[in-house]
Amino acid sequence: MVEEKPGYQDTPFLPGNKYRVHDKARPHPRVVVPGTFGTQEKPGCPPSDAIILFDGKDLSNWLDNNNEPAKWKVENGYMEVVPGAGDIHTRQEFGDCQLHLEWMEPTVIKGESQGRGNSGVFLMGRYEIQVLDCYQNPTYADGWTGAIYGQWPPLVSACRKPGEWQTYDIIWIAPRFDGEKVISPARITVLMNGIVIHHNRELFGPTTHRQILPYSPHASVGPLKLQDHGDLVRYRNIWYRVLTDYDAG
Ligand code: MG
Repeated sequence: MVEEKPGYQDTPFLPGNKYRVHDKARPHPRVVVPGTFGTQEKPGCPPSDAIILFDGKDLSNWLDNNNEPAKWKVENGYMEVVPGAGDIHTRQEFGDCQLHLEWMEPTVIKGESQGRGNSGVFLMGRYEIQVLDCYQNPTYADGWTGAIYGQWPPLVSACRKPGEWQTYDIIWIAPRFDGEKVISPARITVLMNGIVIHHNRELFGPTTHRQILPYSPHASVGPLKLQDHGDLVRYRNIWYRVLTDYDAG
């Protein structure tokens, strides 16, 4: 018979830790079932504890800047920016998370630099990972596809061609505040199309154009925002998981 809680109680304590090496009493990790699309198992399938923000069918989880139902187009399993309809954000608010989303640049090439296929993914409504068509379209480095806008260029340029689906897998650690004081800044890790483009990178504050903004205290959760920059960018398969700490069980 398999012991229900195998382990030891006579081993040394781990440094700075309340648990021993191979501790019998240490909580077992929570089970998460990896996702599948039908019979296909691919990265990007939402696992069992994912909260689905967009499944390709409707925008019921999304609001516009007036907190009215979002008016972007939905067809064929994706949503598409409707220029002038404005940014959209989720009803759900969340902090530390693992976020997956897929996006596509328009095949009709229009504009250059920041004017080509611009959109953006804003964590907590404030911190932008740039969405842009930088395939054969240079722009300033800290505004590149995958940049932490105005702060950090991506480590590498990992763009696919316009018309091909691309992925962001983001690990987000929200900033912590004590009153007006920043206890710890936001940190982000991003994989673009499976390639690391930021690794545990600290943000200077909220992202913006031509300025450096200081942190201003905000709640520990916030909505995910997608930008209407006037270009016909598409999104699909958007989900997140709440990140919990070790030993949460
Ligand atoms: Mg943008």
